[in-house]
Amino acid sequence: MKNTCIKAQEFFNKKLFAMLDKKLHLSTLRAPKFLPFLKQIIFLKKMTIEMTLSIIKPDATDRNLTGKINAKFEEAGLKIVAQKRMQLSDAMAGEFYSVHKARPFYNDLVKFMTSGPVVVQVLKGENAVLKNREIMGATNPANADAGTIRKEFALSIEANSVHGSDSLENAQNEIAYFFAGYEIIA
Ligand code: ADP
Ligand code: MG
Repeated sequence: MKNTCIKAQEFFNKKLFAMLDKKLHLSTLRAPKFLPFLKQIIFLKKMTIEMTLSIIKPDATDRNLTGKINAKFEEAGLKIVAQKRMQLSDAMAGEFYSVHKARPFYNDLVKFMTSGPVVVQVLKGENAVLKNREIMGATNPANADAGTIRKEFALSIEANSVHGSDSLENAQNEIAYFFAGYEIIA
């Protein structure tokens, strides 16, 4: 399925670039001859099985929320295919969040992520990356939708209970950062 998706996506991209080359307007894609093709792409996209990295943060492990958070993932159809409880070192947390190095909250974030145990996990399912972001809710719990993990459990914008990868590429890198292939039982 994954290969079919990639092939379909490549084909779609080629068509798109060819159209752009010819300076055709994107609305041409709505032309009836493209409709079956677009439906197929949407179908394949819906069926894409992905893996994403999740971290249950120290504020949540401290309040015994691991089970309740895992229930949210499972109820939404995501499978926990790898999981371990860890104490992150300064170096591990610092490197993991290095993309935020220049942000004013970086030092506090590393301090927070090393302040107690975390549970790192791999979640698998249809559109797992985006689905997990939806289950998590917005970074700031004040802006999170009702029913999301952050709305129900987060204490603050920093102590917001969970991390989740924000793209498929980051998910692959973040999973490899914490897990060896044999630890993921899909
Ligand atoms: P997300 O976790 O939703 O992907 P970011 O990647 O922007 O959010 O930030 C990473 C983490 O840094 C957040 O989950 C949160 O713990 C912390 N953080 C983000 N913004 C702030 C902020 N303004 N003040 C304090 N901590 C923050
Ligand atoms: Mg992020």
